[in-house]
Amino acid sequence: MTTELFREFDHPSFRLAVAQFDEAAHLIHLSPNLWERLKAPHRSLCVSVPIRMDNGDVKVYRGYRVQHDISRGPTKGGIRYHPEVCLGEVAALAMWMTWKTAIAGLPYGGAKGGVAVNPAGLSSGELERLTRRYTAEVFPLLGPDKDIPAPDIGTTPQVMAWIMDTYSQQVGFSVPGIVTGKPLSIGGSLGREEATGRGVADITVETLRQNERSITDATIVIQGFGNVGSHTARLLQQRGARIVGISDQHGGLYNSKGLDIPTIFDCWIQERTPISSLTGFGDQVSNEDLLTLPCQVLIPAAVADQITDRNASNLSCQFVVEAANGPTTLAADAILEDRGIVMVPDILANAGGVIVSYFEWVQDAQRFSWKEADIHARLHEIMISAFQRIVALSKEKKVSMRMAALMTGIQEVAHAHQCRGLYP
Ligand code: GLU
Repeated sequence: MTTELFREFDHPSFRLAVAQFDEAAHLIHLSPNLWERLKAPHRSLCVSVPIRMDNGDVKVYRGYRVQHDISRGPTKGGIRYHPEVCLGEVAALAMWMTWKTAIAGLPYGGAKGGVAVNPAGLSSGELERLTRRYTAEVFPLLGPDKDIPAPDIGTTPQVMAWIMDTYSQQVGFSVPGIVTGKPLSIGGSLGREEATGRGVADITVETLRQNERSITDATIVIQGFGNVGSHTARLLQQRGARIVGISDQHGGLYNSKGLDIPTIFDCWIQERTPISSLTGFGDQVSNEDLLTLPCQVLIPAAVADQITDRNASNLSCQFVVEAANGPTTLAADAILEDRGIVMVPDILANAGGVIVSYFEWVQDAQRFSWKEADIHARLHEIMISAFQRIVALSKEKKVSMRMAALMTGIQEVAHAHQCRGLYP
């Protein structure tokens, strides 16, 4: 990577995204001209977000919105509220969104946004003011035909509602299609909240089936019990799997007989009770040890950089299904491949969220709501056909599923650039 050119994006996730891209671009013999264009984001905006705190002080937060590629349509991607958000991380996540939307055949490019803030440390009023001011600052980039945000770590349907309202106030009329993951009453979609978890569950069942294993009684460990991890656990348990380990940022629980997911899910939904403080369900386990628990399927559903060369040799699973973005380093990928552990990559496994976001955007444009059963069926169809195409390519080219997924996504985007040509 020509690091000098991209110094402003330097971050472990960005280095990982570029290293993955380089490897896949090499495999498809990508033209050098496109190589340089796709390596860095198309557009990035850094903003200061000043807000008045409840005690009268003014605090200034840093916010970002990055659009990686606009060749296939408007850009799409979540907004993250997390203390460690920075330009490089947002740029990496935007690049992954480009490949993710291309693999799923959605008419979008990738984007991502974020604010470096701990949302749990803000009052509801402060969170609303932060969201509205951030939206006003990145307003020039946004639009239902330009760039459509969505939830990510630390943001909720309520945050999306404030974004929708702020944008709509600026233009003078309601624009539901400006953001996805909204509450139903203002143009949200049935099935959006659980969509990423549902997609991960669909892919997990299919991965086991392809490998002649059944979901019934399959043992599963899930790192992370936020929006994605919790629904993944609930839906996989409903399909007959035994969820033996779960965790949140503070720690986790292990029970070889299977955890009582419905009760734990209710505690979490109603009271946001930390997983590690629940008693009577299983043994306490640290997040580090959780990853190496014996199980068939390990699902990292938390943050990036979790499976690395330090712990990859100690994993005792047969499959890894990446629900988080960027949880595995390239060095760890190589170790897992050597060990015969099947890895289903993030840009395929966690695409369910953006797929149902796309359905929401289409429903908003049509002013027409789809039935929940149709949403689940269409999500399933897109996930499974993308999965099958990627499995077939990985067998044909004798490459990992990560490489097959990246090759598919990059090829789609490269075709779009080739057709459109270079302006002027
Ligand atoms: N933040 C989610 C992701 O990483 C969803 C993005 C969207 O729905 O636009 O895929």
